[in-house]
Amino acid sequence: MAPTDTDPDIWHTTACILCSINCGIEVKLDGGRFARIRGDKAHPTSQGYTCEKALRLDHYQSSRDRLTSPLRRRADGTFEEIDWDTAITEIAERLAHVRDTHGGETIFYYGGGGQGNHLGGGFGAATRAALGSTYSSNALAQEKTGEFWVDGQLFGRPRCHTTPDLDHAEVAVFVGKNPWQSHGFPRARTIRKAIANDPGRTMIVIDPRRSETAELADLHLQVRPGTDAWCLAALLTVLVEEDLLDHAFLDKHIRGLDELLAALGTVDIAAACARAGVDEALVRDAARRIAAAGSVAILEDLGIQQAPHSTLNSYLEKLLFVLTGNFAKPGTMNIHTRMASLGGGGGGRGATRVSPVTGSRIITGLVSGAVIPDEILTDHPNRFRAMVIESANPAHSLPDSARMREALAALDTVVVIDVAFTETARCADYVLPAASQYEKWEATFFTLEFPGNAFHLRRPLLEPLPGTLPEPEIHRRLVRALGAITDADLDPLHEAAANGRVAYADAFLRVLGERPDLARLAPVVLYETLGPTLPDGEAVTAAVWGLAQTCFLAYPESVRRAGFADGNALFDAILASPSGVVFTLDEFADTWRRIDHADGRINVAVDDLLPELRGLATEPEPAIVDEYPFVLSAGERRSSTANTIYRDPTWRKKDADGALRMSPADATRIGIERGERVCVTTKRGAVEAVVEITDTMQPGHISLPNGLGIDYPEADGGRVRHGVPTNELTASEDRDWFAGTPWHKHVRARVELVPA
Ligand code: SF4
Repeated sequence: MAPTDTDPDIWHTTACILCSINCGIEVKLDGGRFARIRGDKAHPTSQGYTCEKALRLDHYQSSRDRLTSPLRRRADGTFEEIDWDTAITEIAERLAHVRDTHGGETIFYYGGGGQGNHLGGGFGAATRAALGSTYSSNALAQEKTGEFWVDGQLFGRPRCHTTPDLDHAEVAVFVGKNPWQSHGFPRARTIRKAIANDPGRTMIVIDPRRSETAELADLHLQVRPGTDAWCLAALLTVLVEEDLLDHAFLDKHIRGLDELLAALGTVDIAAACARAGVDEALVRDAARRIAAAGSVAILEDLGIQQAPHSTLNSYLEKLLFVLTGNFAKPGTMNIHTRMASLGGGGGGRGATRVSPVTGSRIITGLVSGAVIPDEILTDHPNRFRAMVIESANPAHSLPDSARMREALAALDTVVVIDVAFTETARCADYVLPAASQYEKWEATFFTLEFPGNAFHLRRPLLEPLPGTLPEPEIHRRLVRALGAITDADLDPLHEAAANGRVAYADAFLRVLGERPDLARLAPVVLYETLGPTLPDGEAVTAAVWGLAQTCFLAYPESVRRAGFADGNALFDAILASPSGVVFTLDEFADTWRRIDHADGRINVAVDDLLPELRGLATEPEPAIVDEYPFVLSAGERRSSTANTIYRDPTWRKKDADGALRMSPADATRIGIERGERVCVTTKRGAVEAVVEITDTMQPGHISLPNGLGIDYPEADGGRVRHGVPTNELTASEDRDWFAGTPWHKHVRARVELVPA
């Protein structure tokens, strides 16, 4: 690996790794530390924008919690350092034993990349193939799988994901989304301010909290927690009742309208508004504004995806833009290209696979995170027996952490690949230390833009910390140790690579066509054969050559419009563009070409969800149990929270321990003052937190921030937990009936003062 120049006067291009936007940044180095950070104006999507969080990335790179040696668990539960050869050999032997005894499908893979590191996860697919591991999951199965499934029903396949053109929308609608803090689209704060400052544009927010975005909204539908479905159903029904639908669009482009209208006919607008706690006049205003606008873009997020009726919520949200014809044109919703899939494979038309024990739907190849313990803690013969966990922290991030820890302890073998000694690493049998995201070639596959979609391959800024390896090299060694590839297998490809990329491409397609077993190991095959022909230190980027070829095959016209004649030209441009490159340039008509139903129409009658929609009218109010009178949002994104790769708590300048937010009315009612300590109790656990009293919360609603409750080493070596680990409070059975997404935003709780 060739690090870049460490001259302190040079700005190095890379990206922020704290959220899915991955803004381009420039960094000045001081030895191994990040001395200065600024936005990269040459980045195609962020264009110099960053939020304040990126400026503290040295807390990630220089964290005290970095691992520097493979670790093996001793019989007494402590860990010992071992060398890499021993670690790889033993892990391969143990996983091969599980495979040969119980079947490779009992080896479960979790993770494969956080917000900034997906390249290594691609190589993880090769290790999975070598093991015969067929089940996997990652964070998307806690958030987006319901939405992806709805995309599949409406537009043909889950990969038909729509992205909002908020930059040009006359009306922007945010549903369960606070882009001021959780972004979700490039230059989020700049665009949000532009909409708010333009009298010709309108911002509509549906959120139980008066968030920073709701503060600037023209219309804030402040729903009661957990009632988004009623609010969205009321909006849709107003469109029907007041004849605000785009009939010309509907006649030409959709099917299933009669079934949908019949279901919406069961919605009593006044009753639905009352259930949601929103003024009917405000709902009617919002519906009329959406219908009258020249363009509407809508963005949904975890506020509805991790709450009751979450898959139905996504369906109703998407119907808002479909029924008003806000699709396939500027300022609306469009289906984007992608450089690679973020799921676990299987982007088919429906969710036909199910998990082996609980029979839970597998959507875009991902098992619901909430059912993982149930897939392990059983005597079912097909239960998961081993896990490989990569760049993920399920013992902290999945619901019911205590049960997840119990599940990990019940497995035959747990292997964790990570930069830090995480909460999950502490449950492992082996821990393999990875190089940081700034010590290797990296990329993310959050390529969600339209019409110009960008991909950013990031160069290493620093040498890997001694004792660590980049994930591609870890997987290469595991695949080799498992005997899945021999030198003889690769000889024809080595020979072809010596004759140039055209010859290599022909040989690659021929050899992998003849050898499906090698095709499943493609990232490692490319790394070992094409990699050595690339400039020094760039061997791992051979996998990106493969992605560039498949991208060109999938979107030839869009890639050509972006200026690249073929996959090789695209690959060269990716390597030559340290700030990232626009890899596809679409026309709005491309959105229609990507509809994957045979008739090219949008299907608005989603049979699996129509009964749930009809059932809203008669669904009883949940009884508020005296024991748990509050609804807790367990994991609110704030200015002082990011994801858990920021383990060093000193990056936070305020709200160090992550306060529990509560309304003034509730605080008065139970006699709590600002700054006092309270105990938050749910049916699953109890934690202590400091209270912040704020009128942004409505009575009965409380919130705790995401990403806290991390144990971090003190200077003297001891570990201290900072903040509340919210998943000590959540329960895995509280999840969406369809997609299995957990209700992190809707946890019944009580709050009691902790005596001084
Ligand atoms: S946290 Fe997200 S929005 Fe903020 S700088 Fe990083 S990538 Fe950009």
